[in-house]
Amino acid sequence: MLQVQQLVKHFGGVKAVDGVSFDVAPGQCVALIGPNGAGKSTCFASIAGQYRLTGGRVLWNGQSLNGLDARARLRHGIARTFQVAQVFEALTVLQNVQLAAQAALGLQAISAFKMLDKCSLDAARGLLEQTGLQTLADRDALSLPYGAKKRLELAIALAASPALLLLDEPAAGLAEQERSSLMQLVRRLASGGMAVLYTEHNMDAVAGVADRVLVLIEGRLAAQGTFDEIARDPAVRQRYLGEGATRG
Ligand code: ADP
Ligand code: MG
Repeated sequence: MLQVQQLVKHFGGVKAVDGVSFDVAPGQCVALIGPNGAGKSTCFASIAGQYRLTGGRVLWNGQSLNGLDARARLRHGIARTFQVAQVFEALTVLQNVQLAAQAALGLQAISAFKMLDKCSLDAARGLLEQTGLQTLADRDALSLPYGAKKRLELAIALAASPALLLLDEPAAGLAEQERSSLMQLVRRLASGGMAVLYTEHNMDAVAGVADRVLVLIEGRLAAQGTFDEIARDPAVRQRYLGEGATRG
């Protein structure tokens, strides 16, 4: 279980995140939404280990993550993706995922390299199937359409068999149909037992996907609940939805 306790991150005088607390349990898909400048990215990056916290704690299975870098977090079963997809563009789709699978297997200290290659190939093919990328296996990552690149980044994150998956705007920049199919994949990952936390600025990507929605406004949680609950919340309607904004 992920526990975020009184998370505070200030940049000089800017109180980007100012006392945010919530939990994400295994099997839960939780969305962090809010208007532009609300502190979503800062909150996300603080949980993912990019920033030194101004205050508060982030716990995973009861253990503090403060001070652990991304590699150490991966060893604890925590993987993340970026808002702008990051993949090895000089490699093929399959090679990208194979490399990630190989790194994950390496964490278990396997020394028979031939065996490792075979294992990582099987693992990589499985991941491509899971993320709907089989037919693009031999394409250079450089030449991929953006939607496929987002899927590839997800496949790379999944290679570590994470128990907690952190996604920064997983559907950003995608057309409607791609967006919805990617978010259904994210939904299935949570249903399979993973804890999933993602940021999103489009309300549509939250309905039918997130079990719980956290609404961040000016660095604080203004509301949380199911999509229907937060959509009815007067403060949220006035300060977020009412601003004519599905974007933030
Ligand atoms: P969101 O992702 O919800 O749009 P951000 O977390 O990016 O919001 O930003 C929240 C606030 O923190 C904004 O006022 C932003 O200008 C400020 N901020 C974010 N990152 C930095 C940074 N690295 N240095 C200084 N101020 C920052
Ligand atoms: Mg942001």
